[in-house]
Amino acid sequence: MRRRRNIRNIAVIAHVDHGKTTLTDSLLARAGVIATSQAGTKRATDTLKAEQEKGITIKSTAISLYYNMDPKDIQHLGDDGYDGTGFLINLVDSPGHVDFSPEVTAALRLVDGAMVVVDCVSGVSVQTETVLRQALCENIKPVLMMNKLDRTIFEKALTPEEIYCTLRSVIENVNALIGIYCDAESIMGDVMIDPSKGNVAFGSGLHGWGFNLRQFARLYSSKFGIKEEKIMRRLWGNNFYSPETRQWTKQMVDGSTRGFNFFVLEPLVKILQASSDNDKALTQTLLKKLGFHLTAADLQLQGKDFMRTVMKTWLPAADAMLDMIVLHLPSPLTAQAYRTESLYEGPLDDEASLAMKSCNPEGPLMMYIAKMVPSHEKGRFYAVGRIFSGNITHGQKVQIMGPNYSPGSAKKSDLYFHTLSRAVMMMGGSVQPIDEAVCGNIVGLTGVDKFLQKSGTISTFSHAHNLKVLKFSVSPVVR
Ligand code: GDP
Repeated sequence: MRRRRNIRNIAVIAHVDHGKTTLTDSLLARAGVIATSQAGTKRATDTLKAEQEKGITIKSTAISLYYNMDPKDIQHLGDDGYDGTGFLINLVDSPGHVDFSPEVTAALRLVDGAMVVVDCVSGVSVQTETVLRQALCENIKPVLMMNKLDRTIFEKALTPEEIYCTLRSVIENVNALIGIYCDAESIMGDVMIDPSKGNVAFGSGLHGWGFNLRQFARLYSSKFGIKEEKIMRRLWGNNFYSPETRQWTKQMVDGSTRGFNFFVLEPLVKILQASSDNDKALTQTLLKKLGFHLTAADLQLQGKDFMRTVMKTWLPAADAMLDMIVLHLPSPLTAQAYRTESLYEGPLDDEASLAMKSCNPEGPLMMYIAKMVPSHEKGRFYAVGRIFSGNITHGQKVQIMGPNYSPGSAKKSDLYFHTLSRAVMMMGGSVQPIDEAVCGNIVGLTGVDKFLQKSGTISTFSHAHNLKVLKFSVSPVVR
């Protein structure tokens, strides 16, 4: 929690039913929060009973995950970008149903990055547009997870070229939306989605497998003696490969095939089919060619269990998503430098603003409360929010500012004074008390629900202004 470079605050956003909850469960299983066998069925982020019954996620829930990154991957962040290999991912799940959009906005206020989940068969849908627009307007950087790739293979029986065209069209649609809501010179830097950059992952949340191009680039980089980045560029777009002459070309010539189809989709489809046919010898041979070996225990499995275990261990979906999140979404240190201006109502050079811009733990406490999550005590709530500067300790005296508080007015309404008790880390259905919570993190507080209905600002700076109250518009994007 103290290593600000190694924190990612993210939301998973999607149209309803595109697989957000299933993928979130894969992330939780990877981080050891729920058993791997339950991923896809447990719905750990659905803490409300009503959600489990309805099968949709109503209230956003926050979960903190720990991810230890492979040193081979981490080097892509550059020397200034990280502080050890352990990363803390504060994940805010948010609903995808149009009626609950204020909840999405509340979740977005807490995070700096969003994993946009799109069912690649259904493509970009109404709610994908609405939530992506909300995210971009909040200066939240996106990465894309193309889910349900299994449907293109088993249900639609598409050829690799048809699958490629389907995926490319989803990416073009996402980029078209990004183009509408973001300038080319966005304060977030380059926000466009491109598999060859590594900010797009593909997979099946239901079966627990997934990849981004880096995994395949690494495999072929040693084989061809070509740098990983260069292979990644060739694995997407109009790059063709002739297996006979072992040559890459820029146009399709006799006997050549698209790089992505030849090196990614064809082996993937063959392995999926062999393992779903329970053809263990063929599965083993195909995987061996790609440098992956099955264990004796894997070979004992039968039917669907065999296919799922093979795919999950060969290409774990959670690793593909976590790599993408860590490498392509900003840390609070990076994000707060450009987000503070649009988040804070006060002067941009006051003590609070400067501390938030640099995500300074030595500065005054500035925390934005975005939502109330039911606690285990009947009728009471955890106030869940993001600490932008300073830290929270047990017994700390703070001022709580409701949405109607105005520091300029003579009558100080909607202002309360309170002594904080311990903060808690949100772990889906449960919480973990912590002695100290530092800026850059998302945590829960007890006792604050007495003063705030939903949102507000907590500070130790007597001249603090509010962090901006959420602006929300329900109008869908006009095509
Ligand atoms: P959410 O509404 O976005 O949270 O979507 P869910 O995670 O609840 O998934 C909606 C439905 O799609 C469920 O029946 C899932 O089992 C199914 N599903 C999720 N991921 C996949 C996938 O990768 N492939 C297939 N075929 N189905 C999936």
